[in-house]
Amino acid sequence: MTDYGIARRRMVEEQLVARGIRNERIIEAFLTVPRHLFLDPAVRSRAYDGCSFPIGYNQTISQPFIQAAMMQHLDIKSTDRVLEIGTGSGYQTAILSLIAREVCSIERIEALSAAAEAVLTEIPTGRIRLKAGDGSAGWPYYSPFDKIIVSAATNERPGELLAQLAENGCLIAPVQDIEEQLVLYRRRGEEIEEQKLSRCSFVPLLKGVG
Ligand code: SAH
Repeated sequence: MTDYGIARRRMVEEQLVARGIRNERIIEAFLTVPRHLFLDPAVRSRAYDGCSFPIGYNQTISQPFIQAAMMQHLDIKSTDRVLEIGTGSGYQTAILSLIAREVCSIERIEALSAAAEAVLTEIPTGRIRLKAGDGSAGWPYYSPFDKIIVSAATNERPGELLAQLAENGCLIAPVQDIEEQLVLYRRRGEEIEEQKLSRCSFVPLLKGVG
């Protein structure tokens, strides 16, 4: 039998800490959440290899490093309310729930949202609200959000989501321009500051429901 705890610790050391993840609460959350439970049984033994995997419906669970790096850029506080676009497997939702006050997460493919919910109710997490639907419109009912994390690539400025940021709040998203890169936005009053970060590669943000 695979010792998932040892594999998980090694993943955190070699894939996250060695590559610049320094935020203690992020590290602790990745040490806690059982990534293998969010994967197809056929690939579970490789759950802590640090790579992305198919999760069905042409979607993938992202690499832990890129997820951790996005969270580190957002500098999520334990008092923050976070909106996640693209629940996917629910793995990142579980991590976010341990470092934030509350996570609201939207997934356009209903079957993925339901599968994520099934796993998330089986493990200890923080406060999570899930919804199946088109996340590009955000979740106005629960807005404003202190932090927004978009896990699928968009080719336009995520305007409706930026409108749901709290004052001083940040949004991180993969944005496809000439090339795909992570962009960090911050609200300052009526202004939105924009900072381009590293290149990246995500599945596309699609309109409508699947
Ligand atoms: N963070 C996830 C992986 C995300 S993959 C994990 O840990 O597993 C990106 C996800 O975004 C996919 O599941 C895809 O269906 C979803 N997605 C794409 N466009 C979307 C939209 N407009 N609204 C909500 N979810 C969307």
